[in-house]
Amino acid sequence: MWTIATLTACLIASVAADCTITSRAAWGARPPTSTSDIGTRLRYIVHHSAGAACTTSADCMAQVRSIQNFHMDSNGWSDIGYNFLVGEDGNAYEGRGWDNLGAHAGGHNTGSVGICVIGDFTSRVPNAAAQSRVQALIACGTSSGYLPSSYKLLGHRDVTATACPGDQFYPIITGWPNYSPDP
Ligand SMILES: [Zn+2]
Repeated sequence: MWTIATLTACLIASVAADCTITSRAAWGARPPTSTSDIGTRLRYIVHHSAGAACTTSADCMAQVRSIQNFHMDSNGWSDIGYNFLVGEDGNAYEGRGWDNLGAHAGGHNTGSVGICVIGDFTSRVPNAAAQSRVQALIACGTSSGYLPSSYKLLGHRDVTATACPGDQFYPIITGWPNYSPDP
């Protein structure tokens, strides 16, 4: 276990920042009905969508549109809840982005960048492309100055009574840099 953890840490450290994000226009987003400021960004909160997975950009864009429709039409929210989404196609998709307050972790949205990995990770882990893309997005946030290098990384279940981001994915993120269960 110790050896595996050490190897994992080495792999994580090698993930370079990647700020390539598929824009809302590219995936066909509906405009938000309102926006508010995220405030001073201090942490990332990682989620899973608990729905269908996707491994092609076309399928992932369809999933992102579907999630936005659900959040706006069923939940009555102003927009898709997450700040970003990541698919097992290895792409990152713009949700509310870096600047707008998300709706993904009740009571803890202010200052929190919500990243949702598309799929259900209750009984399997996200593929390597998705895992490295999340880490590259986090590295982008630091290298671009959106978040301090002292940012905290949490799973949704750390702040809310939920299974999110899934029993198989959650233990992985607890091994990533800056993980802290305390927001
Ligand atoms: Zn969640």
